[in-house]
Order: sequence, then C-alpha cells, then structure tokens
Amino acid sequence: MKIKVHHSMCQGHARCYSLAPDIFQLDDAGYILPGDITVPAGQEALAQRGVRACPERALEVAED
Ligand code: SF4
Repeated sequence: MKIKVHHSMCQGHARCYSLAPDIFQLDDAGYILPGDITVPAGQEALAQRGVRACPERALEVAED
C-alpha cells in the first residue's frame, strides 16, 4: 500500500503524525515530507486512519 502526498495542500496540523509517527514524517516546521509513502506491511489500518485524519485531504491512499 502506498500513500500519495499532496504536499502543497499540507497545512502542518500534524494529525497524521500524531496517529502514526512511524509512517508520516514531518519536517522541522511540522509539514509532511514530500514524496509518496510506502506503508510497511501490517500497518495499513493505521495508515488509513492517518489519511482520514488529515483535514486538508493532503493524503490519498494509492493501492499498488
Ligand atoms: S494531517 Fe494533513 S495537513 Fe496535517 S501534517 Fe499531516 S498531511 Fe499535513
């Protein structure tokens, strides 16, 4: 499972990170790092929760 990051839409709420800091990594200013995320096996449900928690819809699940 991959997550597409729409970096320009991120407003730095860090809700994704607070749910799953191992999956969603932020820069020093609290914005998500650009580039697609490959979700480790077994962490798909947590990743889905992080995607849904983003109020800016900056995260999108992309099945591979
Ligand atoms: S929850 Fe959304 S807006 Fe907030 S840091 Fe994560 S990607 Fe950015």
